[in-house]
Amino acid sequence: MKYVSTRNKDYSVSASEAILKGLAEDGGLFTPVTIPKITDLESLLSMDYKQMAHQILSLYLSDISKQALKQAIDLAYDNKFTTNEIVNVVEVGDLAFLELFHGPTFAFKDVALSLLPHLLKQALKNTNEKRKIIILTATSGDTGKAALESFVDVNDVDIVVFYPKEGVSQIQKRQMITQVGSNTHVIGVKGNFDDAQQGVKALMNDEQFIEQLNQQGYMISSANSINIGRLLPQIVYYFYSYINLVKQHKINLYEKINYVVPTGNFGNILAAFYASEMGLPISKLVCASNENNVLSDFFHTNTYNINRKLIVTSSPSMDIIVSSNVERLLFYVNKNNSELTKKNMDDLKLHGKYTLKEKLPKVFEAFSISEEETTQAIKEVYKEHHYLMDPHTAVAYKAYTKYLEKTKDTTKTVVVSTASPFKFQEKVASSIGISTHNKDDFQVLEELSKTTNQPIPHSILSLKDQAILHTLISTKETMKQTVIDILEKGKKHD
Ligand SMILES: *Cc1c(COP(=O)(O)O)cnc(C)c1O
Repeated sequence: MKYVSTRNKDYSVSASEAILKGLAEDGGLFTPVTIPKITDLESLLSMDYKQMAHQILSLYLSDISKQALKQAIDLAYDNKFTTNEIVNVVEVGDLAFLELFHGPTFAFKDVALSLLPHLLKQALKNTNEKRKIIILTATSGDTGKAALESFVDVNDVDIVVFYPKEGVSQIQKRQMITQVGSNTHVIGVKGNFDDAQQGVKALMNDEQFIEQLNQQGYMISSANSINIGRLLPQIVYYFYSYINLVKQHKINLYEKINYVVPTGNFGNILAAFYASEMGLPISKLVCASNENNVLSDFFHTNTYNINRKLIVTSSPSMDIIVSSNVERLLFYVNKNNSELTKKNMDDLKLHGKYTLKEKLPKVFEAFSISEEETTQAIKEVYKEHHYLMDPHTAVAYKAYTKYLEKTKDTTKTVVVSTASPFKFQEKVASSIGISTHNKDDFQVLEELSKTTNQPIPHSILSLKDQAILHTLISTKETMKQTVIDILEKGKKHD
């Protein structure tokens, strides 16, 4: 399996190289040239999560030996996860919720990021790369902590996380700035997620910077979903949840179902799209946006237009205007025409928008959900089913009800549940009628736990007593110097 840059299809690399580099030198995203197929779904019926991961990922990571891949998967999916199955599929009314938040940091990013360091180690071996790795990561809240947890104390790797200073939840921020480990660095960026992400992408393509790091014995990689090694492991849970529903006799094998995905950087839903291209019977993929409705506008108008202000919402991991992985969808829609894809991306840079000539795949539906609708959704589902949704999941749930209203489609539907409600306690508590007035984060957590009779995850509770270790702040313009300073110090920069 070869990977090509979305901006130059003649530039092709192996899986290992794609994972190591994270982003192509021309600014494009490495993308598999073809999507492999799984036609025999019966064979998946007898597999557990890890076996399924092995089956699916071996089709993509063809230059990593099967034995090494098995080892990587075993190391990733161990008792860091509080459920043996890694992900849970639970029934709530007529819907199924695919709970992806039972990993160490309580967000779906754990599923892929637990595996990434092990894939990276294999990639280093395969390519005979001798330099150390510096992982540059922009986070809208959840990737940062999940990446820090997965890379902490990994030899020969330094990880730098840039989070938007005012754009993440209090718990998300605390999770990051209390991170231990001598190879971890956390920096607040003045601005929003788009500023942080654009800053990181610019660094990854800054030749002078790359050379400077090279001289210090470093190469740059990324833990964001621009890295194909982050994206591919996310395909697995779509297959897994489908097979789980078959085993629970909720659907027949080969029956088509819908998935609703709360979407930000377009990584999770792109993994679902790849799963459907691989042969998973998917009828509709509903792309759920919060008030940042750039994606729902895109699916309705064929124009991607970033000439708008970013709105800070209660679902911060979806407060994104430039969704990186759309570029991979464009490449697909443009039938692997990288010149056209590059032209689209140049238009975006120059004019802040582009319009597609080709039609977007029919499998997609899209809705944008307001803050008020999010609140109502959390309240309604709690009241009716005693099921607690975090704000991101609530956006997806509400998108489903809008889809249902519009289409009356009764196909079995899975709502992808991306975070624990205890990570966003303030919004969740106030939505179900708990007063948060004059209470600190931990008092609200206690109150939420008492009212709903659900335990606060231990690692969230313990944040209360952990020392703040990271206080660095940077602007978009000083990100480069900040990284250089960190490496020069050669130790933690606080
Ligand atoms: C990252 C994240 C999302 C958005 O996922 P993308 O792959 O960026 O589209 C949604 N919900 C939560 C809780 C997240 O952390």
